[in-house]
Amino acid sequence: MSRLAVHDPATGERIADLPADDEASVQASYQAARAAQPAWAARPLAERKACIARFQEAVVRETEALAVTMTRETGKPIRISRNELKGLLPRIDFFLGMVEPVTAAEQVFDEAGMREVIQHEPLGVVANISAWNYPWFVGCNVILPALLTGNAVLYKPSEYAPMTGLEITRLLHASGVPPDVMACLVGAGPVGAALLAQPVDGVFFTGSHATGQRIAQAVGTRFVRLQLELGGKDPSYVCDDVDVRATAESLADGAMYNTGQSCCAVERIYVHEKVHDAFVEAFVATVKGFRRGDPMSEDTYIGAITRAPQLEVLEAQVADAVAKGAHLLTGGGRGAGPGHWFEATVLSHVDHRMELMREESFGPVIGIQKVADDEEAVRLMNDTRYGLTAGVYTRDEQRAKRLLSQVHAGSVYWNCCDRVSPRLPWSGVGDSGVGLTLSSYGIQAFTRPKAWHLRSA
Ligand code: NAD
Repeated sequence: MSRLAVHDPATGERIADLPADDEASVQASYQAARAAQPAWAARPLAERKACIARFQEAVVRETEALAVTMTRETGKPIRISRNELKGLLPRIDFFLGMVEPVTAAEQVFDEAGMREVIQHEPLGVVANISAWNYPWFVGCNVILPALLTGNAVLYKPSEYAPMTGLEITRLLHASGVPPDVMACLVGAGPVGAALLAQPVDGVFFTGSHATGQRIAQAVGTRFVRLQLELGGKDPSYVCDDVDVRATAESLADGAMYNTGQSCCAVERIYVHEKVHDAFVEAFVATVKGFRRGDPMSEDTYIGAITRAPQLEVLEAQVADAVAKGAHLLTGGGRGAGPGHWFEATVLSHVDHRMELMREESFGPVIGIQKVADDEEAVRLMNDTRYGLTAGVYTRDEQRAKRLLSQVHAGSVYWNCCDRVSPRLPWSGVGDSGVGLTLSSYGIQAFTRPKAWHLRSA
C-alpha cells in the first residue's frame, strides 16, 4: 500500500506516515458510495440534520486537539486554528437552519386539476477536492450541505492537511454518517485525478487556478456539475477621507492574517495620494508589530509557509518588484530554518509591470501603490484576470457603493476585508472560478431541481 508522509512546515519534522489511497481503493470507495447513497437520501432530513448537529458538538468538544493537529500539519498559528474551528460553528448553524426551507418542494401552479411542483433532488455521489489553507472551512463548505441534501461525498483533502481531513471524516462517522456515504481519500494530485476518473455526479474543487484548469479539462466532456473556487489577487482602495491608522491596521491584518495564505487575503493596496505617506508609515509600523515564530505559541501571528515551493514564488515576486523600482520597506526574505519561513514584507512604489501586483502571492507579502483619484483606483482594481473580493475604505457610503459597483469581483467590502459570511454566496469571477458555496445558493448547489407535472385523473 502506498503511504503519504506529513511534515510540520515549522520544523521540517515528519509527523505522520499515513496509509494512502490508490486507483483501486478510490474505485472501491466510489462503488461503495454509489451503493449507499440512495438509502442516505431516503433517510428523513431530520435524521441527517441530527448527524450534523452531533458533528458540531464533537467539534466543540475536541476543538483544542483539532486545532493542534491543524497547526502541526499546516504551520498555521494556533490562535488562527482555534478561530477557524470557532468560525465553523455558525456556518453549521446556518446550514442546519436553511437546508429545509431551501430544499422544500415548491408548488408553483395549481389550476383545474393540474399541479406543477419543483422538487430538489440530491446530485448523487459528489467529489470534493480541497485545499489546505483553511481545511475545516473549505472542506465543510462542501461536505456539510452535500450530506444534508442527501448526497454521498468522496472527499480528497489536500496532501498538506490530510490529518485534518481524516479528523473531519472520523467525527462525521462518529456522529452517525455511514462510512460508505462519507469517504476520505488520502493522497496528492494523482489520487485526485483517480477520483475524477470515477463517474461522479458533481465535482467541487477548491485550490489553485492551475489545478482548476486541469480539473475542468478532466471533467469537461462529462455533463456533471462543476464548481471551481480558485485564487485571487484581491485589491483594496484607501480613499482620502479615512482614519489612516485604523485603516492601516485593518488592511495589515487582511494582508497578513493566516500568514497571507488566504484565498481572500488583501493582495494589492491602492492609496489616494493625499493620505499615501501617512498610510504607508502606519501600515509598516503595524506589520513590524506582528510576531513571527513557533505556530504553537500563543502570541505568534505569522506562522510557517505551508508549501516549501511557495518560498521561491515569494522571493521571485520581491526580486522582480525591487528590480523594477519598488521600495522594500520591511522584510523581503526567508526566515532562518529549520522549516519554511518568510518575513512579513511590505513594498511601496509598485506598479502593474510587477508580478507582485498581477499574480497571487499567497504569503505575507504586499505591495502598496499610490493613485491620483478614484477613477485610477477602479481602473487598477479591475486590471486583473481574477475577481474574488475587492474593498474600499472611506467614510462616505455612497462613494464606496459607486466605486464597488464598478469593480468585477464576487464579494465586495466597505471598510472591511478578508471576511466570509455563511449567509452570503462565496464566488469568484474570471479566473477566480465558477459556481459558489455558502448562502442558500450554496445549499441548492448540491441539488437538482426536478419538474413534476401532476394531473389528477
Ligand atoms: P492546489 O491546486 O495545489 O491543490 C488543491 C487540491 O487539488 C489538492 O487536494 C491537490 O492534491 C489536488 N490536485 C492537484 N492536482 C490534481 C489533479 N491533477 N487532479 C485532481 N486533483 C488534483 O491548491 P492548494 O495549494 O491546496 O490551495 C491554494 C490555492 O487555493 C490558492 O490559489 C487559494 O487562493 C485557493 N483557495 C481558494 C479558495 C476559494 O474559496 N476561492 C479557498 C481556499 C483556497
